[in-house]
Amino acid sequence: MASAVEWLLGRFSVDLGIDLGTANTLVCIEGEGIVLTEPSVVAVQKGTNRVLLGGNAVGESAKVMLGKTPGNIVAVRPLKDGVIADFEVAESMLRYFIQRVHKRKWGVRPRVVVAIPSGITAVEKRAVINSAERAGARRVFLIDEPLAAGIGAGLPITDPTGSMIVDIGGGTTEVAVLSMAGIVTCQSIRVAGDELDEAIMNHMRKNYNLLIGELTAERIKLAAGSAAPLEEEFQVEVKGRDLVSGLPRKTLIGTEEVREAMKEPIGIIIDAIRTTLEQTQPELAGDIVERGITLAGGGALLTGLDRRIQDEIQLPVTIADDPLTCVARGTGAILAHISLLRAILAVNDED
Ligand code: ADP
Ligand code: MG
Repeated sequence: MASAVEWLLGRFSVDLGIDLGTANTLVCIEGEGIVLTEPSVVAVQKGTNRVLLGGNAVGESAKVMLGKTPGNIVAVRPLKDGVIADFEVAESMLRYFIQRVHKRKWGVRPRVVVAIPSGITAVEKRAVINSAERAGARRVFLIDEPLAAGIGAGLPITDPTGSMIVDIGGGTTEVAVLSMAGIVTCQSIRVAGDELDEAIMNHMRKNYNLLIGELTAERIKLAAGSAAPLEEEFQVEVKGRDLVSGLPRKTLIGTEEVREAMKEPIGIIIDAIRTTLEQTQPELAGDIVERGITLAGGGALLTGLDRRIQDEIQLPVTIADDPLTCVARGTGAILAHISLLRAILAVNDED
């Protein structure tokens, strides 16, 4: 009977899949695809955890505030290091996103599938469930991010064959070997896109006495960052504040230099891939030799990273289609199965 009620509720509500990323949150609706993509950033009043009122306190409009807010406002990234660093703020953000996309039919609340980093603790899992429930979910299902990424990337994750997925996000890189719908080996490290930005900031400070913000560093990475030599190297302009004079200044920096600046974090990511492979059972390792490694997450888009990993690990490397949306599309695929399962249960229940 309970599942019949669930089934009925399902008729009056749409279900949501959420990729609660450290850099970006994506929401998809079953049958519609991705309906929201926003940076995981919230503008709050300093000292309190109160989210600013108005439509510009969450997402893209809050991200542009990073490093630019007046004294009483701070733009925060509640998931920065891959775990929920700030529960209250994370919950407000989640509520805002859910409410923005959920077309509530007759007051029925949505079921929600949330992809979570594989490294998080039971307490953190509970916190995500509570947050999503308080943010308006009727039921919350959690799925490990690497699995969602594997589904979204179109890997044969349910087959008894090993697939390797490397999801390079903002705060964390997750390296996982998947087989038969489970994670066989997995490593989650806190080195990903943010660390590349930080490496660029440090480089500018040390070598040019130039202080730059994290958004500027990210822009340099997107425009001029690479992990392997380019056919044509070039220069970009960097603006910041001079450490000595304290005054604003700009300078030019070349692509070789940006690559050199990011060398260490990129090396750490490649090492994580290597050690995960070393821990993989021989049969599965054999499958990976055949199938290669799939890259997902925004970091997969770093120019030349696929080539670089291929050179160092000596295995074929593929970038998933639309790597930034893999996890979200994976949660969407799972929603379809939840409905299917529920429908079957409901039918059986009626027998
Ligand atoms: P998360 O899942 O942690 O929210 P995402 O998968 O959304 O992270 O990826 C965000 C990261 O990807 C950021 O660090 C961003 O700078 C980086 N990124 C996005 N596009 C590119 C690109 N073209 N080249 C290099 N890095 C990129
Ligand atoms: Mg992610």
